[in-house]
Amino acid sequence: MTRKLPDALSAVVDQLARLPGLGPKSALRAAMTLLRWPEGETRRLGAAVYDLRDRLHLCPLCGALTDVTPCALCTDPARSRDMLCVTADWDSMLTIENSGFYSGLYFILGSLPAATGTGIGDDGTDLRRLDERVAGEEIKEVVLALGATVEAEQAESLLCARLRRRRPDMRVSRLAQGINLAQEVRFVDRDTLRQSFKYRQHLA
Ligand SMILES: [Zn+2]
Repeated sequence: MTRKLPDALSAVVDQLARLPGLGPKSALRAAMTLLRWPEGETRRLGAAVYDLRDRLHLCPLCGALTDVTPCALCTDPARSRDMLCVTADWDSMLTIENSGFYSGLYFILGSLPAATGTGIGDDGTDLRRLDERVAGEEIKEVVLALGATVEAEQAESLLCARLRRRRPDMRVSRLAQGINLAQEVRFVDRDTLRQSFKYRQHLA
């Protein structure tokens, strides 16, 4: 018979067990480790988790998680401001950024717009955010880095047509086919990504 855990412990174990890669057993092990830590360290971890929701928000320009507005990347004077890379999610943006070859700006969609709908969310708010982002003359090229899934390709066609209407003078391209079929950008290795960027295809 399994012994019932004290409420305070089972509350932590239940939450930890919801994290990727942690089942109930490893969650209990992690919680027991936290109990063995010096009190100050356990409390610091608790406060850091609390701050995650309290201090982080989405950058109004690119959509990345940040604790300053706009985020450090959007205001970095070393970034070239004439190129905008559009990714489906934050993980994909981080994958490209950590590869170290891209020095332009980003725009994170949050999720892929459905080909049949008005965009992300029922009111298409995120697509309007993209419209606003490219409204000035500053951005000369948008690189759609959405991956090679069927949904990504549909979204690219949709976005390309939309961007073309807004800014006929602006170049729109997408990553070359170095990305294997059905692969998401966040899972692509650095060299493949670099090649896909270098040989990107111009759509408009
Ligand atoms: Zn930003």
